[in-house]
Amino acid sequence: MKQLTHYLVGGAVRDALLGLPVHEKDWVVVGHTAEEMLTLGFTPVGKDFPVFLHPKTKDEYALARTERKAGHGYHGFEIHAHPSVSLEEDLLRRDLTINAMARTPGGALVDPYGGLEDLKARILRHVSPAFAEDPLRVLRVARFAARFHWLGFRVAPETVALMRSLSTATELLSIAPERLWQETQKALTEPDPQVYFQVLEDCGALRILFPELAALRGVPQPKLYHPEIDTLEHQYLALKIAAQLNADTPTRFAVLVHDLGKGLTPESAWPQHINHEIKGLPLIKQLGKRLRVPRQYLELGLTMSQWHTHVHRALELRPNTIHKLFKGTDALRRPERFEQLLVACTADARGRTGYEERPYPQADYLRLALAAAQNIDIPALRERFEGPELGAAIGQARIHKLKEFKQAWPDKLP
Ligand code: ATP
Ligand code: MG
Repeated sequence: MKQLTHYLVGGAVRDALLGLPVHEKDWVVVGHTAEEMLTLGFTPVGKDFPVFLHPKTKDEYALARTERKAGHGYHGFEIHAHPSVSLEEDLLRRDLTINAMARTPGGALVDPYGGLEDLKARILRHVSPAFAEDPLRVLRVARFAARFHWLGFRVAPETVALMRSLSTATELLSIAPERLWQETQKALTEPDPQVYFQVLEDCGALRILFPELAALRGVPQPKLYHPEIDTLEHQYLALKIAAQLNADTPTRFAVLVHDLGKGLTPESAWPQHINHEIKGLPLIKQLGKRLRVPRQYLELGLTMSQWHTHVHRALELRPNTIHKLFKGTDALRRPERFEQLLVACTADARGRTGYEERPYPQADYLRLALAAAQNIDIPALRERFEGPELGAAIGQARIHKLKEFKQAWPDKLP
């Protein structure tokens, strides 16, 4: 058996050059057949193209391949994996120049498309015009922009232009909903998730993929509370703060959708947005259904839209209304989800120009209020009441605790 000719490729080469930790190693194998790989003990995993797992390291080894467009949109690729395909040909089919570098087993860099130069200049640039053959790449570029924004990376103008030409309904709507959600969910985990949506907006993809969000561009809010005025700008700022707060992904999603209702306000009512909390709910459900958003995300998004104004007003709310908030958000049974809501509301309050550092006492106030409302003697009430009366008595006991709590709270409002 001849020696396996293989090269380290993709993210591992890129991330090492950036000085970032390498999480997974992908390899390309040149000059070999699938049969040889099996003989060497590799396990096949590829459904659409020949990829194998290394018997020991479990790293992914793909046979060098070229791809040719043979249909519309995201589908219809002709995969050509053959021992005659060279490393350079394999790198040519890749999306970005910084992702199209390889290392030889001896450690030498193979960089036929200027990846290192672009990496140093912090540019996300497509490798070849074949980029336009796969609309999923529009999402990938936006996601890499969100990931590497903090390092100063920008999308090359000619790549934005190519992404714009790809941003038609026919192309973008051919992406499977699961893939769209997968990319979006990953983008939400990045250090600057707002950049994903900003890049999609810049190339015209946002209005096709996320029309509910795109509708917020140009919608004004009252300057007193929102110095940034524009509602989509507010969404981006809030999402950025959510990432800075290390919010988990469902919480970031909830921030993303919390003001969708503002897109439905008639112009005559601007800049007020009465009832946007409720008007947004069908829009969130619609987006959730279209992208097959998991239930955990969707529920938090809906809860955030419906209740965020209550949370912001926490210190002014009567004990009865706080109790209503706890019931409506299911806070008593699901305190961990209520905590996510408080983080999302903190991001919303601070995601406003000039308010990024503002204190948000509402969150601690409600944390302590929830603890107070939970601190009742249910077994004692059970001895005295049953059925609906028990439920009412528990509610009364909680509201009583909330009254005591409110009276004891030092007024910390600025
Ligand atoms: P990470 O795994 O850290 O998210 P990565 O660069 O390794 O980043 P993968 O999705 O693992 O990204 O893909 C591995 C490599 O395959 C990429 O670096 C890129 O060269 C190539 N690649 C993946 N998907 C595409 C695509 N849709 N079009 C072109 N090239 C792609
Ligand atoms: Mg990878």
